[in-house]
Amino acid sequence: MTDGPSYGFDTLQIHAGARPDPTTGARNTPIYQTTAYVFRDAEHAAALFNLQEVGYIYSRLTNPTVAVLQERIATLEGGVGAVCCSSGHAAQIMALFPLMQPGMNVVASTRLYGGTITQFSQTIKRFGWEAKFVDFDDEDAVKAAIDDNTRAVFCEAIANPGGYITDLDAISAISDAAGIPLIVDNTSATPYLCRPIEHGATLVVHSTTKYLTGNGTVTGGCVVDSGKFDWTASDKFPSLSAPEPAYHGLKFAETFGPLAYTFHGIAIGLRDLGMTMNPQAAHYTLMGVETLSLRMQRHVENAQTVASWLEKNEHVEYVTYAGLESSPYNHRVEKICPKGAGGLFTFALKAGYEGCIKLVNSLEIFSHVANLGDTRSLVIHSASTTHRQLSPEQQEAAGAGPNVVRISIGIENAEDLIADLDQAIKTASA
Ligand SMILES: *Cc1c(COP(=O)(O)O)cnc(C)c1O
Repeated sequence: MTDGPSYGFDTLQIHAGARPDPTTGARNTPIYQTTAYVFRDAEHAAALFNLQEVGYIYSRLTNPTVAVLQERIATLEGGVGAVCCSSGHAAQIMALFPLMQPGMNVVASTRLYGGTITQFSQTIKRFGWEAKFVDFDDEDAVKAAIDDNTRAVFCEAIANPGGYITDLDAISAISDAAGIPLIVDNTSATPYLCRPIEHGATLVVHSTTKYLTGNGTVTGGCVVDSGKFDWTASDKFPSLSAPEPAYHGLKFAETFGPLAYTFHGIAIGLRDLGMTMNPQAAHYTLMGVETLSLRMQRHVENAQTVASWLEKNEHVEYVTYAGLESSPYNHRVEKICPKGAGGLFTFALKAGYEGCIKLVNSLEIFSHVANLGDTRSLVIHSASTTHRQLSPEQQEAAGAGPNVVRISIGIENAEDLIADLDQAIKTASA
């Protein structure tokens, strides 16, 4: 099908990027389980290697199954191109790689997935990159943190561990004024609930491991390019604006225009970092994406029902779901994610740390795992798992205090989830 702009989300999530296999007519996208592709002749090979012609060389760079997923996600996000990667964390490194150099920094929100905080505060230092963490509700602090060496601004649309919604319009106004790209991790929201590019994001990253695949089967990531950033407006982004020695002095921005960043991601990023998504993973994620809108509707509906029930429970101290009127972020739902505040939130038990331990041990439908965005409902007690290395002060700051559990609401029957929570909370609070 032609991906006309007039098609709706539900149509595009099934069809964008895919066409019947030209050889067999196979309706579903085949898993192209191949490492290499035969060149037509030596001239064809040379043109591909010179980036003069687009085509398949080797599956570290491109693969037809992965290419369909890339086009699918780019379309759903309203971007011009996308590069899929082996995991969400790979996607974050891939997103920063063309922008950063030793000595450069990324201004990042304090409210991020725990693994991202570790990746940014520890691991990227080995590349000579630095992350400056700021409260993204404090616009002046974000402005003040951007300096001459800042090359990216980074946040999540609906941020972990749930309940916080970033005012993307306000943040993109700041990054635009500074001439710096804004990268939005849209994992928890998905393009069904939030389209960061419409709020000024330059790049969108995903852990496709979560809602996009939706069934907890494979890890993957994706970097989507809006195609809207002018890489030649300053000399800050030489990877995209200056001659590239490995391709005979080709300038990505000049040669590929709005697709410069995507081509760089494949031709340099995947070529040299090798964080490639494999075609099996792309297949599972393509199957998941087909039902994204239906699942997200149910995730949101269930989360709203369960959060409202929890808020009234006498053993519960508070619930942080932005879909609740009591949330300080409730007013941003309409603007940033009008179809709902997602399926992820935290709640605090009056019974404290020991109560939370009993709770996770007593739940029967909820699985105690370090994951989110599954069809299954999931729970984790951060203070005894993902955040156990942190001091009590750091745990509180991260919204992961000793009496807090995070839940990822699945698409089961809401009444069963409530019954399960009810029995476990009673046991925990006895
Ligand atoms: C899971 C997650 C990541 C990391 O993705 P992986 O696929 O586990 O590498 C990044 N950001 C968010 C918001 C996540 O939930």
